[in-house]
Amino acid sequence: MIYLVTGGAGFIGSHLCARLLSEGHRVLAVDNLSTGSYANLAGLSDHPKFSFVAGDVRHPELMEELVRQADAIFHLAAAVGVRHILHHPVETLETNILGSHIVLSLAARYRRLTLVASTSEVYGKSRRERFSEEDDLVLGPSHLSRWGYACSKLADEFLALAYHREQGLPVIIARLFNTVGPRQTGRYGMVLPTFVAQALRGEPLTVYGNGRQTRCFIHVAEVVEALIGLTREPRATGHIFNIGSTEEVSIAHLAQVVTEVTRSPSPIVFLPYEQVYEAGYEDMDHRVPDITKIRELLGFTPRIRLAQIVQEVANWLREDAAAVASLGRRTAAA
Ligand code: UDP
Repeated sequence: MIYLVTGGAGFIGSHLCARLLSEGHRVLAVDNLSTGSYANLAGLSDHPKFSFVAGDVRHPELMEELVRQADAIFHLAAAVGVRHILHHPVETLETNILGSHIVLSLAARYRRLTLVASTSEVYGKSRRERFSEEDDLVLGPSHLSRWGYACSKLADEFLALAYHREQGLPVIIARLFNTVGPRQTGRYGMVLPTFVAQALRGEPLTVYGNGRQTRCFIHVAEVVEALIGLTREPRATGHIFNIGSTEEVSIAHLAQVVTEVTRSPSPIVFLPYEQVYEAGYEDMDHRVPDITKIRELLGFTPRIRLAQIVQEVANWLREDAAAVASLGRRTAAA
């Protein structure tokens, strides 16, 4: 098979490319390197079945050339990371909506199976204990940039399903919950690599708010396994799937696990939200996926525990002094 991976130099994209190559497939990766990086592809660039194009999904001619060559598409290219989104709202909306429109319209023209990566952000501020794919979505007002990200990814979902219904495009939508692992940069606000880098530098771990908010962290390798599994299951076509761990941890507890695993002397400090996000920013108290749908279809159950993930991220960061130096610094480029 020939797979096109948009966002192929990103955190998840690069792991996906590596896995597809290891299975013997040919992989075309495209990335504009805005949040992805060449460094993520180190080790793949010389692979005889791997091609990388530094380009943007918003360019129809380039994308047509790539879609035409591929048998199936993983569309992961998107503006991601809370801090990045708050600082670059125009780019976020354009990349996510226009880019997906171009990819999906070409996929429909050439009839290529397309998996669209979406996000748990689309559940917004829903207060449900577990989020399931058919729940109502509860988004905030449009003067807060944060919600523009959720809306842009939701627009991608609507568009993908519209192409499926109207033009028979085989699509699958994957709503990814807090995905973590080696190569994820904290530069765009993600908490786990930020804490690990802070711990390795011996600096305070910055917990926002009271730290009682919870998240469920899933290892990127398990997300990749789920994404590939979905594309191989014909019954997945036309459906939305949550992909995430159901092991809920508070952010304060995460900070503790990080200091323990890294044996760091770092203190844990609590910062009010107003100091770190735009005025009126609303954090999510809880975010737990209901993964019944993907479990019933693929037998998918995440197994990698939090301490192991933290250890792997720490091992990766220890080999990358530059990343340790920059991650989680409040002055870092957003
Ligand atoms: N967070 C934190 N300290 C940080 C970065 C993030 O306490 O240095 C918190 C953030 O406010 C949120 C949680 O960690 O409650 C997860 O944040 P992240 O940006 O990783 O993901 P998301 O909010 O999209 O789930």
